[in-house]
Amino acid sequence: MKQLLLFILLTGVVMADSPYNKLSKEEESVIVRKGTERPGTGVYLNNKQTGTYLCKRCNAPLYHSEDKFDSMCGWPSFDDEIKDAVKRQVDADGRRIEILCANCDGHLGHVFLGEGFTSKDTRHCVNSISMNFVKKGDPLPEVLGRKNVVSTAVFAGGCFWGVEYHFQQAKGVIAAVSGYTGGHLANPSYEQVCAGKTGHVEAVQVTFNPSQTDFEILARLFFEIHDPTHVNRQGPDVGEQYRSVVFYQDESQKKTAEKLIMILTEKGYKVATSLAPATEFWPAEKYHQDYYEKKHSTPYCHIYTKRF
Ligand SMILES: [Zn+2]
Repeated sequence: MKQLLLFILLTGVVMADSPYNKLSKEEESVIVRKGTERPGTGVYLNNKQTGTYLCKRCNAPLYHSEDKFDSMCGWPSFDDEIKDAVKRQVDADGRRIEILCANCDGHLGHVFLGEGFTSKDTRHCVNSISMNFVKKGDPLPEVLGRKNVVSTAVFAGGCFWGVEYHFQQAKGVIAAVSGYTGGHLANPSYEQVCAGKTGHVEAVQVTFNPSQTDFEILARLFFEIHDPTHVNRQGPDVGEQYRSVVFYQDESQKKTAEKLIMILTEKGYKVATSLAPATEFWPAEKYHQDYYEKKHSTPYCHIYTKRF
């Protein structure tokens, strides 16, 4: 009985959780059960418009119209895919190469090499029914069920125990890891970083789900859980390894951090936080991770203070 209940519960969850577009029976027979539409029947076979071909199930962009060519084989043909959008695997027949949407694993068709149709010598033979088409200039729909979409941010604001503690509680944060970065020594130890000769700082690498939070929210939190006006120290911890730094992953993170520093400066704070491009991040020794959680206590030097 218990097992039955569990089964019903799990099936219910799986069904309710499907993030993709609902498919018709016909679409399902190709996209899910890897069937093939009859040659010459697909709606995009002779489509000559400029635009983007998307996965019908998850909306991921798959092909540009510029890569479509006429192969006379009865199905839409492309000699190239959008980068990383299409996955290849040996077909169940052991002979052909099946192509699938890299995001949702929906079946697209097959890819054939060495036929000499175009200079790329590649033909993606795709079922029209596996795709949707969006004309150039029209907005692309949101990609559903994106796999592995996480972003990273790295902040240094004094002793990493306290910084990690606050980020771990923040909405949308998948993981907050204490470590070392910004210096020159590979695989540094806590003692080496504390000695102050590695150039590293104590930092926290925050992995987050961008559909639940964003870099700006996290960066604002960063400026409110440590004192960004302290130079080369934080609370009782003194030394270059405790300096305040935002290690940005891209231009957009850099611009956001600059904007926040500007806001704080206008409010009268003499911000000592520096910005640096993210370099290799070395996770700290195990005993430094989840420090406050293990101790069942709260940070002594990182207390939330509203600044924005
Ligand atoms: Zn897809």
